Amino acid sequence: MKSNKSINRRGFIKSSVIGTTGLMIGRKAFSEVHGEKEKSQSSDQKFIYRTLGKTGIELPVISMGVMNSDNPNLVRTALEKGIVHLDTAHVYQGGRNEEIIGTVLKDFPRDSYVIATKVRPDGYNRRTGNYSEDVTEKNLLDKFDISLNRLDLEYVDILYLHSVNNPAAAQNKTMLNALKMAKESGKTKFIGISTHGSPEVIEAAVESNVYEVILTSYNFTMKNLDELNRAIEKAAKGGLGIVAMKTLAGGFLDRERQQPVNATAALKWVLKNSNIHTIIAGCTAFDQLEMDINVMSNLEMTEEEKKDIILAQSNTGLYCLSCENCLSQCKKNLPVPDIMRAYMYTYGYRNFEKAHELLTALDLAKNPCKDCNSCSVVCAKGFNVAEKITDVTRLLDVPADFIT
Ligand code: SF4
Ligand code: SF4
Repeated sequence: MKSNKSINRRGFIKSSVIGTTGLMIGRKAFSEVHGEKEKSQSSDQKFIYRTLGKTGIELPVISMGVMNSDNPNLVRTALEKGIVHLDTAHVYQGGRNEEIIGTVLKDFPRDSYVIATKVRPDGYNRRTGNYSEDVTEKNLLDKFDISLNRLDLEYVDILYLHSVNNPAAAQNKTMLNALKMAKESGKTKFIGISTHGSPEVIEAAVESNVYEVILTSYNFTMKNLDELNRAIEKAAKGGLGIVAMKTLAGGFLDRERQQPVNATAALKWVLKNSNIHTIIAGCTAFDQLEMDINVMSNLEMTEEEKKDIILAQSNTGLYCLSCENCLSQCKKNLPVPDIMRAYMYTYGYRNFEKAHELLTALDLAKNPCKDCNSCSVVCAKGFNVAEKITDVTRLLDVPADFIT
């Protein structure tokens, strides 16, 4: 596992030859290579761009997922260095994330960046993965208006229906109407759907003929890659833009964070799939940003990187596949995949706020596995889910204001 030389913001900007103005100039000078485009960022640096399906938006292969980024200087530097696309959500940091990003975006011309946010309506049942029957268009649109206010923007480039893991939810008529209304109002240019790697949801999204972009989990640990790749290929051939997330599979292979994932290798591994147009890489530090920028100009995997991926694939890791096999197995009908995601947020991302927020929303009993004599769940990933549930739900004993 390699780490890049650490740099601070000052050094990063000093090394930047172009800044925002240069980015605009660089966008004009590109050459086509193998269906991708290389755009010059400076005399010695070219970034690889792919087109986000029929949206026609040309993006560097690395974008920035800002869920864990609460440092405006880091986001600002990312945009100055050539990152174009930022991805946030209505719920991140209880809304503060959109406010932070909005503050940064004020310093940039509106046509120099691409911003996406995600909204989920009230009335979502985490256990069934579907919406209640009284879910309304107004609820989703009101939340979206709050997001636009926080971002202080008149429109976003992509509005996603957030975190859909049930094909029926992807085709929910009320939600589809709400998304179409958002687009017709001009408050979003394109509409999309986010899913934790469900081929069925991707296929349902394609069939709907409404979505234009799919944001999906995609990483080297996934067990359903053949099926997922087929669904992604179908979507890409149908003209949908494909954005990948959770590409580092939690960032660490172990709870103690002694085994970091080789991030460069993991990003390049994802981009071997030419149907994936860009990755919203999570980034919380300047050295991570430097690594992301380096990947944007070189997707060739070294032999060492290939070996690191093979080695990591043999490790159980922290990433839950969201396959939902466990849902019907748990004697107490616990939302096990969501709890496993909270486990990854806790030990992989060290994002206690996000983990606490998710666990609280699940409305769990205290120590939910304690009355179970034996665990009936056989996890597809090999997790000891009862052990992980007992461990991570201790976070609920901590008052939220200690964490935020
Ligand atoms: S031990 Fe926990 S996860 Fe396993 S069956 Fe019982 S309640 Fe469900
Ligand atoms: S079976 Fe395991 S990998 Fe699949 S959703 Fe449940 S916890 Fe996650």
